[in-house]
Amino acid sequence: LDTVHRICSGQVVLTLSTAVKELVENSLDAGAQAIEVKLTNHGLGRIEITDDGHGIPPENFQALTLKHHTSKIQAFHDLESVGTFGFRGEALSSLCALSHLRVNTRHSSQSLGCDLTFDAQGTLTQTESIVRNLGTSVILEGLFEPIPVRRKEFERNIKREFAKMIHILQAYCLISTGVRFFATNSIKDKKRTIAHTSGNASLKDNIVDVFGSRHFQSLLPIKAKSPSPEELESFEILDLEQEPELKLEGFISSCSHGSGRSSTDRQFYFINHRPCDPTKIAKLVNDVYHQFNRHQYPFVVLNIQLPRESVDINVTPDKRQLLLEREKYLLATLQASLKAMFARIPA
Ligand code: ADP
Ligand code: MG
Repeated sequence: LDTVHRICSGQVVLTLSTAVKELVENSLDAGAQAIEVKLTNHGLGRIEITDDGHGIPPENFQALTLKHHTSKIQAFHDLESVGTFGFRGEALSSLCALSHLRVNTRHSSQSLGCDLTFDAQGTLTQTESIVRNLGTSVILEGLFEPIPVRRKEFERNIKREFAKMIHILQAYCLISTGVRFFATNSIKDKKRTIAHTSGNASLKDNIVDVFGSRHFQSLLPIKAKSPSPEELESFEILDLEQEPELKLEGFISSCSHGSGRSSTDRQFYFINHRPCDPTKIAKLVNDVYHQFNRHQYPFVVLNIQLPRESVDINVTPDKRQLLLEREKYLLATLQASLKAMFARIPA
């Protein structure tokens, strides 16, 4: 209980993207190596996510959709070192109230699977034995229908919502090496693939799967370079002693003309493999790029690795904004690294 009270609460802000994101994160947390995302009608009809993870044991069925029920942290101090995406126990309880939710799962301890139906309050109303592979499927139908105003808005903005959702899905596809993703959208009888990866071992191969090899040719690997004394000074960094060890991994468009893009649509940032929207980091990347190529924005996939204790992921409910200790040092390093890379390439 103590844990529950100390986690800042507040409803998960739900949109199509956050719904899909929460379910994909649950699958990854369950150790899935294959994740299938099936939408019908851009998610207006049905959203179904199936994984081959460890499944849910029967003793957890009742509590699955209770607010703040999580199987992922034991005590508050665990929060400082969480390695899973989820830890608030809010997604499934919120989704129950906002859609018709069904879960079917088979845990490794069971020979049969179970199909679970929940009502809007999150009460388990029906269980039925089924035959299925190990793992879990979560099915949402009629997202936002319980709140007509929100449903209307969702329908009206579906194009934009769908595009945002694809961007988030692409982020998880890119960063999840060793996991096979397959995501489709069906409209009437037409099924279209919206993202896929084939269980590659490297970020590079995931980029090729998601965006094609042609695109990969104009990308440069990002290598970390320590900032010079002048750069440190311009970022007002005085004591170098305490700076954290930091590693950069990723790729960025070369700055030669035609290698970039006309918008920031293909920018993916990760901190310790967690997809996020780090505003200042993104601004710096675009600013440095603009010094070499004024007319375009880079394609960038950047994973920043920092010691866990210097990242606070418990900032916004969707965990997309992270607080970073020593952010200035990170920005200085990033600037030094990108400048050094681009300076070698004629603009
Ligand atoms: P959180 O992820 O923060 O723990 P959620 O509401 O997203 O909370 O999920 C509640 C619980 O349901 C999880 O802690 C986990 O035990 C279980 N769960 C949800 N989805 C899956 C899944 N795909 N595979 C296995 N367990 C799952
Ligand atoms: Mg979760």
